[in-house]
Amino acid sequence: MSEVQSIFSEFGYTLDNTQRDRFEAYIEVLMDWNRRVNLTGAKKRNEILRRHFVDSLLLADRMDLSNKRALDVGSGAGFPGVPLKILYPSMDLTIVDATLKRVRFLEELSKRLSLPFEAIHGRVEHLQKTETFDIVTARAVARLDVLVELCLPFAKVDGFFVPYKGERFRSELKTAESAIKHLGGVFDGHYAKNLDGGESVVLFIKKVASTPAGYPRRYKDIKRKPL
Ligand code: SAH
Repeated sequence: MSEVQSIFSEFGYTLDNTQRDRFEAYIEVLMDWNRRVNLTGAKKRNEILRRHFVDSLLLADRMDLSNKRALDVGSGAGFPGVPLKILYPSMDLTIVDATLKRVRFLEELSKRLSLPFEAIHGRVEHLQKTETFDIVTARAVARLDVLVELCLPFAKVDGFFVPYKGERFRSELKTAESAIKHLGGVFDGHYAKNLDGGESVVLFIKKVASTPAGYPRRYKDIKRKPL
């Protein structure tokens, strides 16, 4: 069994050959680029596999992503969007990230893995607002009260915004309550799993009503005065 396969099976995932080959190619391309360009703080193979790849799959424990339309905001080196896409190739994935070198990496990655997804260079709050995504994800991008305004507007009604958080998510959630409500969402539960770096959590924020016009605002307004 390959190292990739044994780490994934330790956490309860069985990969088919295509998935295994793609994860193996992903770690090679990432480690190669990471030597020249700072894409992620984790540099060791084992660390990347456990902290980034396995952690990214948390949502897949709870949701079937086949044929879903997903937006990953601030994906960086591809997390959680790309590992989820490897698990569910039929998922239609769009990524938006503000850092050009990371978007270039993602474009190359998409080619090397023969895994089509769109990588947009820009800030999410500058995208044209469309409430069309079944799922919007974000991991390690911003505090929840800010993040909810960056992400929830893009989810369709009945869709979900799924932020990846750590064990202190409850206090962040409390601070974000009014923003969630204002933007048309309700907190619909969480799922936690103990991984190497401690407890990893995904929150399910369900969109129950259309977001009022004008959101997301400009970043400096969001930061200065979260909803
Ligand atoms: N999600 C990845 C990367 C986290 S680093 C992971 O879990 O490892 C945060 C990333 O978010 C950076 O690449 C940064 O460029 C991007 N980012 C921050 N604010 C953003 C915004 N408003 N719109 C788009 N990308 C943003």
